[in-house]
Amino acid sequence: MRMPIIAGNWKMNKTIKEAVEFVKSIKDRVAGTDVEVVLCVPYTLLQPVKEAANGTNIKVGAQNMHWEESGAFTGEISPLMLKEIGVDYCVIGHSERRQYFNETDETVNKKIHTALKHGIKPIVCVGETLEERESGKMEEVVKNQVVKAFKDVKGESVKDIVIAYEPIWAIGTGKTATAQQANDAIYKIREIVKELYGEEICTEIRIQYGGSVKPNNVEEIMNQEDIDGALVGGASLKPDDFVQLVNF
Ligand code: PGA
Repeated sequence: MRMPIIAGNWKMNKTIKEAVEFVKSIKDRVAGTDVEVVLCVPYTLLQPVKEAANGTNIKVGAQNMHWEESGAFTGEISPLMLKEIGVDYCVIGHSERRQYFNETDETVNKKIHTALKHGIKPIVCVGETLEERESGKMEEVVKNQVVKAFKDVKGESVKDIVIAYEPIWAIGTGKTATAQQANDAIYKIREIVKELYGEEICTEIRIQYGGSVKPNNVEEIMNQEDIDGALVGGASLKPDDFVQLVNF
């Protein structure tokens, strides 16, 4: 009943020319799937990718945004600017932004509120470091991130949010969490959503796994009961790999 969602996170990769070629090369091969297909691309690629994807089932996402609508924030992009392009999704709180660009649970929360206000669906990233996992703190860390991210978010908006569980030690390292580890963590996140919003909403919300998802492990991951999709970095950059991910 929850529609699976496979989202590519291109991070800081591809030129306009490469991006448009990518969309042309995959569009017929991902058409007609039961999976929601999303490409989260750098700001400069949003408009050309949106145009190239026009008339296809490919949705477009940004990788970040500011929480204000306009103002003196040199170098930032506002939700209104994303909305004008017709962006469907926005990744919020990716671990690389938390790690290198001072993203905090508070800014994640502000961005979620603004995104929802403007009809942009947040893909909210949470996940623990290796040290936190090894010291038995995974649950506590992730719970804290989820609770703070959802502060003052109304129950009726939760269906428009996707959570991505991305253990930091599995991102770009080739070290995937086992399908069982990923499912256990995602089950726990669903329990947290249940504590916050109740049974119905917790069965509705989609929760992805992210961290070294590849064509050769996607099926096992997607077969887990609580996992509704994948947020994919490295393996989303090659058209053939991405097509295989969508058609798991
Ligand atoms: P990866 O990245 O698939 O390259 O591990 C995932 C992510 O950072 O979203």
